[in-house]
Amino acid sequence: MTHTLTRPETTQLAESGRALDTATPLEILRWAADRFGSRLTFATGFGAEGCVLIDLIGRHRLPVDIFTLDTGLLFPETYDLWRRLEQRYALTIRDVRPERTVDEQAATHGAELWTRHADQCCEMRKVSPLAAELSGFDAWITAIRRDQTAGRADALAVEWDPKFGLGKVNPLVRWTKKEVWSHLLRNDVPYNPLHDRGYPSIGCVPCTSTVAAGEDDRAGRWRGAPKTECGLHAPMVAAPHEANAGPSA
Ligand code: SF4
Repeated sequence: MTHTLTRPETTQLAESGRALDTATPLEILRWAADRFGSRLTFATGFGAEGCVLIDLIGRHRLPVDIFTLDTGLLFPETYDLWRRLEQRYALTIRDVRPERTVDEQAATHGAELWTRHADQCCEMRKVSPLAAELSGFDAWITAIRRDQTAGRADALAVEWDPKFGLGKVNPLVRWTKKEVWSHLLRNDVPYNPLHDRGYPSIGCVPCTSTVAAGEDDRAGRWRGAPKTECGLHAPMVAAPHEANAGPSA
């Protein structure tokens, strides 16, 4: 499948993003579900923010497809949370897997590639499978917040994603970490117990460690390496005509 948004539609997307900048996460999710229908998907990594969005989608019965990138290297607690969320909200969270299993990757690229070439490992286990999956949709929902990283500081509620070439919906873009946790606790939403054990940001087991008091929330990801992102969230632009990139470009 290919994306079906036209250039005028992507320009409208940027206008919608500006108009929705003061909307609540639920209002943004409802708008996206109405606007994109079955061409909308949510890629979750089961972080605290992702659990908020699954709660909103599940409790309000929004018709939104949900999937996760199962690298084969997630924490047992993450796999358990995945099942608990499905049961709690009576929904299915699809798994999207890399082309090769961890063992197959080791056979072709050597054991524990993440210790030598983390970017290559993320590309094969996360970025490529995500790109292939998103090629069947017109927009994807993410759980990013502006105050998480410098690269996310300019994100809009709805915007064009130049990296994957489709719309990107960020319902929690204006929320703070405090608002996220207030929502989780107030609504008794299942979340990863590792968050209570010093892991504010959780990815694959080999590349995730605890953080000390005062450290950045993402300091435990790829500790000791300059890498801070999987490569899933490129810096955003407002519209394809401004970035010279789009589905009809
Ligand atoms: S987070 Fe680590 S193990 Fe997971 S895909 Fe990236 S480099 Fe590989």
